[in-house]
Amino acid sequence: MDKKIKVIIWNEFVHERENNALGDYIRTIYPDGIHRHLARALAAEDLQITTVTLQDEAQGLPPERLDDTDVLLWWGHCAHDQVEDTLAERIALRVFRGMGLIVLHSGHLSKPFRRLMGTPCRLRWREVGEKERVWGCATGHPIVQGVPESFVLPHSEMYGEPFDLPGDGQVITMSWYEGGNVFRSGMAFQRGSGRIFYFSPGHETYPIYHDPNVLTILGNAIRWATPTVIVPERLTPSPVSVEPIHTANPLASLDTSALHQ
Ligand code: ZN
Repeated sequence: MDKKIKVIIWNEFVHERENNALGDYIRTIYPDGIHRHLARALAAEDLQITTVTLQDEAQGLPPERLDDTDVLLWWGHCAHDQVEDTLAERIALRVFRGMGLIVLHSGHLSKPFRRLMGTPCRLRWREVGEKERVWGCATGHPIVQGVPESFVLPHSEMYGEPFDLPGDGQVITMSWYEGGNVFRSGMAFQRGSGRIFYFSPGHETYPIYHDPNVLTILGNAIRWATPTVIVPERLTPSPVSVEPIHTANPLASLDTSALHQ
């Protein structure tokens, strides 16, 4: 392949650096962060993967970097509030123009995802290490190619319905939990020219991003979300009409330009 897909994996990178026993445990699974682990695990000939974190300059995504991204993966949990509104807005606009966005696990409450969904994105949750069975629902969909009809994650954080999502998503995977809950764990959306995939398995204290089926799903999702086109930045003023306007402007004698600053 001559042109590689430019992928950025964004991680808030907080839990993996915690200076306590839980942080020590998480580092046995992700010694140098979920972002770097995923970059290694998803590495492929057709992908050019970069990792960034919340602590980086411009929170990892200065405009020139975001504008050079085909697919953005987003892992966040306890630092959603620290993400600047202006960054969330730039991400949402870039998705509308065609960039793919893959929102991981607790990213359901991230600013970019909620902005793009327009709903609270709340869900039920429980962390007791119960078993999760993931079912592929969208037979033939590219995101579940090469994945068994169902597979088990031995320990998972339960994310359960009701999940506040808009009604236009496609259910790609559905999860069942040992405790009885179910969840739309893989959801696909289109926003403008961009594709969005939300995938819930990925709690930081379990080795879920070491699971080959989970990695296959994420790799498939990157290719599925790759833009076919990034539409140009939209210019909204249209001062020159394409047809002649004969109606007299009742405010022709007033300068209204200040109202549009
Ligand atoms: Zn979690």
